Amino acid sequence: MTDTTGRYVFDEDDVVVTHEKSYAAGIPAVLVSLRRGMEQMGPVRTARTLWRLNQREGFDCPGCAWPETPGHRKHAEFCENGAKAVAEEATTRTVGPEFFAAHSVSDLLGRTEFWLGQQGRLTHPMVLLPGASYYEPIGWDAAFALIAGELRGLASPHEAVFYTSGRTSNEAAFVYQLMIRAFGTNNLPDCSNMCHESSGSALVETIGIGKGSVSVPDLENADLILIAGQNPGTNHPRMLSTLEKAKANGARVIAINPLPEAGLLRFKDPQKMHGVLGNGVQIADEFLQIRLGGDQALFQGLGRLLLEAEDRNPGTVLDREFIDTHTAGFEACAAHLRRVDLDTVVEATGLTLDQIRATADALIASRKTIICWAMGLTQHTHGVATIQDAVNLLLLQGMIGKPGAGVCPVRGHSNVQGDRTMGIWEKMPESFLAALDSEFGIVSPREHGLDAVDSIRAMRDGTASVFVGMGGNFVSATPDTETTEAALRGCALTVQVSTKLNRSHLVTGRTGLILPSLGRTDRDVQSGRKQQVSVEDSMSMVHLSRGSLTPAGAHLRSEVAIVCGIAQALFGPDHSVPWAEFTADYDRIRDSIARVIPGFEDFNRKVRRPDGFGLPHPPRDERRFETATGKANFTVNDLSWLPVPEGKLMLQTMRSHDQYNTTIYGLDDRYRGVKGGRRVLFISAQDLESLGYAAGDRVDLVSEWTRPDGTVQERRADDFRLVPYPTPVGNVAAYYPETNPLVPLEHVAAKSNTPVSKAVLIRLERRP
Ligand code: SF4
Repeated sequence: MTDTTGRYVFDEDDVVVTHEKSYAAGIPAVLVSLRRGMEQMGPVRTARTLWRLNQREGFDCPGCAWPETPGHRKHAEFCENGAKAVAEEATTRTVGPEFFAAHSVSDLLGRTEFWLGQQGRLTHPMVLLPGASYYEPIGWDAAFALIAGELRGLASPHEAVFYTSGRTSNEAAFVYQLMIRAFGTNNLPDCSNMCHESSGSALVETIGIGKGSVSVPDLENADLILIAGQNPGTNHPRMLSTLEKAKANGARVIAINPLPEAGLLRFKDPQKMHGVLGNGVQIADEFLQIRLGGDQALFQGLGRLLLEAEDRNPGTVLDREFIDTHTAGFEACAAHLRRVDLDTVVEATGLTLDQIRATADALIASRKTIICWAMGLTQHTHGVATIQDAVNLLLLQGMIGKPGAGVCPVRGHSNVQGDRTMGIWEKMPESFLAALDSEFGIVSPREHGLDAVDSIRAMRDGTASVFVGMGGNFVSATPDTETTEAALRGCALTVQVSTKLNRSHLVTGRTGLILPSLGRTDRDVQSGRKQQVSVEDSMSMVHLSRGSLTPAGAHLRSEVAIVCGIAQALFGPDHSVPWAEFTADYDRIRDSIARVIPGFEDFNRKVRRPDGFGLPHPPRDERRFETATGKANFTVNDLSWLPVPEGKLMLQTMRSHDQYNTTIYGLDDRYRGVKGGRRVLFISAQDLESLGYAAGDRVDLVSEWTRPDGTVQERRADDFRLVPYPTPVGNVAAYYPETNPLVPLEHVAAKSNTPVSKAVLIRLERRP
């Protein structure tokens, strides 16, 4: 429906609740994919665009980082949420100067992320001048000069922070970090700080590299796959096809999650007869409905049971040869695990001892085990320790560096892993910085920079005053919304390089800039030549992406061109880095990457192979561990879990099925049976009764954060409907960004500084 100005409007408070689904995908997925395409692109563009999605000569899906199927590509090599991601980006709707002339910033601040995103692609560089209420057009050169002037005016380069969203291509990420380091800071927060940072911290310490060690064929040939704290049906949907193959090959799947997510239970592949006419395939053989934050206790309990089974039948459970040859710290870890109290494990997990013993038996029976995980493990205070205890389990049985076995953190954004590989990290190793300096004749700073949480603190405290965002939606992706928004408003300048309108464009510094960039689906022509970019998926495979659509407007520029434009304005024409050449030919960027980053040698030739190429992974490839001990490290971790005080609830923030990170595709969380609105709280029938509420009641959510000094800080998110749902008693769930205001900035995971978005203690307040 459109309003009088022809803008799209939605009734976002017409919540309808039906039953949750027991299967993922199916024909509805096809229908929704086509409908969204038609709504945003029309029939021809929809067909042309989906035809090239994830194809060899096509473009990489801007959704998640699930890999392409090696070898043969299906015609429809995408899922429902991939089709939605493409429809969002390739929409024919546009947002240009006339839109901003019709809508003041304060008007737009009153709109939801869904409404903002549905308005279309940004087409012109826009500036919000100090004291102004409306954005106005600005020329590219003037925009670059404004940014360069502000940066050069800083007392220190460390007063600027440069954020990256995981959709940024390898080439753009590489020149971006290069510009930032040439400018003199390592302040490179990225979206990974909010999601898999705990995985990186845990894996670097234990196996020497922060990346998963398995491939798609490994998953298809595993004996046992544990899926913990992950909802593949919505967040990595094509993983279900891989799990279907694994099951056909005899694998057992055990799903560990507080919520019985449809994609963990059953998959109806709409490209298969049994997925259209039949009942599809059962995914999880066992569904363990664990309590929030109970995964570490489970992994430690399983470790104890494996050791006891080994004691009963020596040589039948542990891989002694692997432990003795390739690991360090076994004895201390084993001693710790033997002391784990199984009653505590039962209480912390909410599982029965039988369920825990059955899972241990499955591990013992397996010769090839993979553990997959996502935010349900990483966004906890003890996230790093939980993942290290999962690694302990795999090390006990030698499940690293063996086909069909290993660690599998399933990445979110399509190139979040690639960006990190390209240097988007506030604490890159000396080897990388030295290689960068010798390639470009610059002196990179050695002082570690700021991650996302520390960047918010710095802007809040006034020690940072320029924010540059390469894609993404920082305001809605980060915790403690009130604090984050105030921090950004305290800046002198905020710059957003974006494809679509979102709330971060409306929460600006004294001056705000919006720079419209090409998207993954767009044709990128530089100096008369079509350019191609590359991405790295969740399994370290690097491949090309070639956009083909006519851009939404003549004023859009590629991310590479925007970065190089800012750099040339900042450093002047005689800088040692060939910014203009980089813009004209991305092969030049790849040649430099080949000389700076191990594994990218001969990059331009290797990346042009049909499926691209795989990056080295020493633990997977050679059982070589570049850790402090030179071995795979067992770790001893104090057990943490989340008892819920009487009358309170533990909240996890999550995505709906109609959302990708902060991009809201629609208001239809089909799998959970909720549509028409997003301000809902999923709560168990027992908690509704014990707290004296009924289904549909409207409440405010109040989080209670106990500071280290013992004082309690409260935060509010108002007007949510209560939706009865099969969650563990005491555990509730709701969508972000609506519940990000409840997440305290100071509540972060140990070691990784990741916001704790899966364990927010709240109480309910009835609304009049
Ligand atoms: S699984 Fe992920 S990458 Fe693949 S099509 Fe779906 S959203 Fe895109």
